[in-house]
Amino acid sequence: MTEVRVRFAPSPTGYLHIGGARTALYNWLWARKLGGKLILRIEDTDRERSTEQSVRAIFDSLTWLGLDWDEGPVESSAGGCASRGKSGPYFQTERLPVYNDYVARLIGKGAAYRCYCTKEDLDRARAEHKQKTGNEQGFRYPGTCRERTDQPDLKHVIRLKVPRSGATSWVDRIKGRIEMQNESLQDAVLMRGDGIPLYNLGAAVDDITMGITLVARGDDHVINTPQQILIYQALGVPLPDFAHLPMILAPSGEKLSKRHAAVSVMDYKEQGYLPDGVLNYLARLGWSHGDQEIFTRAELIEKFNWEHVGETGARFDIKKFQYVQANQLRMLPPETLASEVAPFLLKRGLTVAGSDPQLIAAAPLVAPRATTFIDAADALDYFFREPPVFDEKAKAKLLTAEARVQLTDLATVIENVTPFAREALEAAVKAWLEAKGLELKTVAQPARVALTGRAASPGLFEVMEVLGRERSLRRLRA
Ligand code: GLU
Repeated sequence: MTEVRVRFAPSPTGYLHIGGARTALYNWLWARKLGGKLILRIEDTDRERSTEQSVRAIFDSLTWLGLDWDEGPVESSAGGCASRGKSGPYFQTERLPVYNDYVARLIGKGAAYRCYCTKEDLDRARAEHKQKTGNEQGFRYPGTCRERTDQPDLKHVIRLKVPRSGATSWVDRIKGRIEMQNESLQDAVLMRGDGIPLYNLGAAVDDITMGITLVARGDDHVINTPQQILIYQALGVPLPDFAHLPMILAPSGEKLSKRHAAVSVMDYKEQGYLPDGVLNYLARLGWSHGDQEIFTRAELIEKFNWEHVGETGARFDIKKFQYVQANQLRMLPPETLASEVAPFLLKRGLTVAGSDPQLIAAAPLVAPRATTFIDAADALDYFFREPPVFDEKAKAKLLTAEARVQLTDLATVIENVTPFAREALEAAVKAWLEAKGLELKTVAQPARVALTGRAASPGLFEVMEVLGRERSLRRLRA
């Protein structure tokens, strides 16, 4: 069997959109499932729009998500990027000779031609088309230079010589059979006058030379696929499979954009989301496995397939995203949760090491009610702030003169409990309440406010255990 080789080919012209991350994820899952290779290829030929910062955003986002890639250019010392090595990525601007070579082959086979039309020529043709049809839509290059055989030393571009008849088709792994009449296709520009390839040439040549077996990408590229197939056919090389993923839609059904939700992967990192939560939700946004919602990374790799990717766009649902995220957060081992939440505590001015045993003990107490690391950091605040920040309303209501007496007594009751752990604390406090004829709830709420500053917290005895003897006594007595 041939090795599965897939690729993710972003253009570095902004942040990494969650739609792009989903494309990367599906490719990654497929490669990891079948023991294949994922190639990362930076399509940076649009030099005006490509930036180093966007390249960095792609690396940072993929790295944060834990989507690793394999393989890179042999001469990996080229380029200024620190994160490249033998696992790539490829940069198209470092491969210009390859595209040149392929353009020569295509011209040699009569599948591409030099076009000397100037901008003015094209404007004139467009105006004529508009006059004839009443609008600019449907304008195609009229093919003025298709049959030209001279080779004047003038500025020119290279165009694909699309057959004038017949049709180009493929069976898409997601959308089924797609066919387009060749007469509806443009003689697309493959290479500009300065030797820079345009998208269709760069993508097709790279997919051929990198041995890609399945091209999975957004369905905004369905319209480009026939031209790429024509390039394959002209060169006599076998076609890869294609899988075109529907766009992610807003709840209203429009294309999802910044107006509807955070769409940059790194925004979710900032908001305290967990990479596995993002991956889990993105996997489900367009793919299903029965009615299962929560998947570990290993389960995604095991269960992902193209058959259950939906043909139409899935709607982004922030409520469901948060539900998935909260479930993933609860699945984290305490040590991981602690180390992930530590940077968010630092943002609140609390310097706590991720390996701090008190943080490792406290983190699972707050996890059941947290959706993000930001929520968890908020819920952990009073464990690490001395004195805690008081909810003024709760304080006024509950830390009364009457409560003062009970809290002082409570401090005395727990002072010598050993071990200072939840069961022993609970037993001692219950015995005291019984002897005094008091109910737990009359003491518990004031005690909670005294210990945490808040009206809501995890169980009182768990909180005491994590705070420890000295701080519990100090806070009750204060
Ligand atoms: N560079 C293209 C984009 O970012 C990807 C095209 C492809 O995957 O073929 O949309």
